[in-house]
Amino acid sequence: MRTHCVGGGPAGLYTAVALARREPGRPVTVWERNPPGVTHGWGVVFWDDLLDEMHRVDPVSARALRRAAVVWDGQAVQVGHRAPVFLGGSGYAVGRHALLELLGARARALGVEVRSDEPAPADLLDPDGDGLVVAADGAGSAVRQAHARTFRAHVTCGVNRYLWLGTPALFDTFTFGFVDTGAGWIWCHAYRFDADTSTFIVEAPPTTWSALGFDRLDTAACLDTLVELFEPVLHGAPLRIGTGPGTGTAAPWQTFRAVTAERWHHGRIALVGDAAHTTHFAIGSGTRLALGDAAALAEHVAGVDRERLPGALADYGRRRRREIRPWQVEAERSSAWFEDPDAWLDGGDDLALGWSLWQRRSSAPIWRWYVHRASQHGPVRRARVSAAAARRRVRAARRVLATAGEAR
Ligand SMILES: Cc1cc2nc3c(=O)[nH]c(=O)nc-3n(C[C@H](O)[C@H](O)[C@H](O)COP(=O)(O)OP(=O)(O)OC[C@H]3O[C@@H](n4cnc5c(N)ncnc54)[C@H](O)[C@@H]3O)c2cc1C
Repeated sequence: MRTHCVGGGPAGLYTAVALARREPGRPVTVWERNPPGVTHGWGVVFWDDLLDEMHRVDPVSARALRRAAVVWDGQAVQVGHRAPVFLGGSGYAVGRHALLELLGARARALGVEVRSDEPAPADLLDPDGDGLVVAADGAGSAVRQAHARTFRAHVTCGVNRYLWLGTPALFDTFTFGFVDTGAGWIWCHAYRFDADTSTFIVEAPPTTWSALGFDRLDTAACLDTLVELFEPVLHGAPLRIGTGPGTGTAAPWQTFRAVTAERWHHGRIALVGDAAHTTHFAIGSGTRLALGDAAALAEHVAGVDRERLPGALADYGRRRRREIRPWQVEAERSSAWFEDPDAWLDGGDDLALGWSLWQRRSSAPIWRWYVHRASQHGPVRRARVSAAAARRRVRAARRVLATAGEAR
């Protein structure tokens, strides 16, 4: 059965890869309205669980992702110029450009037709036509909006303003940098994602944002002000806007769109990735979940004829809505933390602030508090970083063993 993916982001491209792997020879077309090399955003984080899952679906793209990614070791919370507080954890980060390039290359190698710079044809909105239509057109999905009643979608906007920026300052430790501007708090989420660039997401409550005039400043003035404010972590390094849409003269501040849909299919159309659901960047998992949707969809529709397609899509939607629910709960809890951090910040106790930030996704057992406190000492911190590196090596070795002999 012919398949059309509307959108060549992570969800659309990986659906194509996963389908081509399960059903070699199946005609699959990916429609992407942006020219090659143009996308919004900078680097995204992920963890070993994603590499494990991708190895099961397609070891070739999993290995390519690992090669394109960098490791970040530990997290740090820094308030102004004060000494940072260390939090544990480690993971990977990859540039969106690199991710899309490697998924696009893999899709083409598997025989998928990837049509860049071409918006999807309008007739794909028809739920009763032939073939399968995968709506992978992102949080603002036009496909979802065209059938909003059937999908029973809800979109709510977060309170804080954010800007997704890049910088040549290299944050090998995932850094939350908080700054008291005098007009309210502002903070960044910063991590390196390739040899010479870090993601630098700036987040501000609306009161700080308007008090500092960000609602009026053009892009250049906005970036200059941010470089000045974030001097404690940037040390004068510049900030850059990306290549995606909305990068004109006004700085592209946004509020996070929380998308949910009660139903993920309509006739031959299936929603995947951000078109179906978003999860706040405070837990850095939207891409991971989008790739998970893609893998699950391919599993449900491979080998299914047009008659049985709606049933297969219903099963896919039920399964994924159930699987992603815990992530959504953590994301809601996490974004709520960032919408009201003042009590922790004004308290002046950075160790308590770090502990609260560590628990923003879910409550931690009390023994973790003692680990947190001990981790502020160099030897314990270094031991935790070494232990995390050892765990990564074990996971990588397991993946190699699991896919030994896999040639394609
Ligand atoms: C600030 C921020 C930080 C984030 N950090 C992380 C992170 O660290 N880790 C993580 O896992 N996730 C992160 N995410 C989430 C992640 O970016 C998204 O979840 C992910 O991009 C979803 O992939 P997608 O393919 O569903 O949508 P998108 O990446 O939005 O791709 C949709 C594609 O569809 C195309 N398109 C739309 N309409 C059409 C059309 N009509 N015809 C053709 N093409 C079309 C668009 O051009 C786009 O390329 C972050 C998000 C934000 C906002």
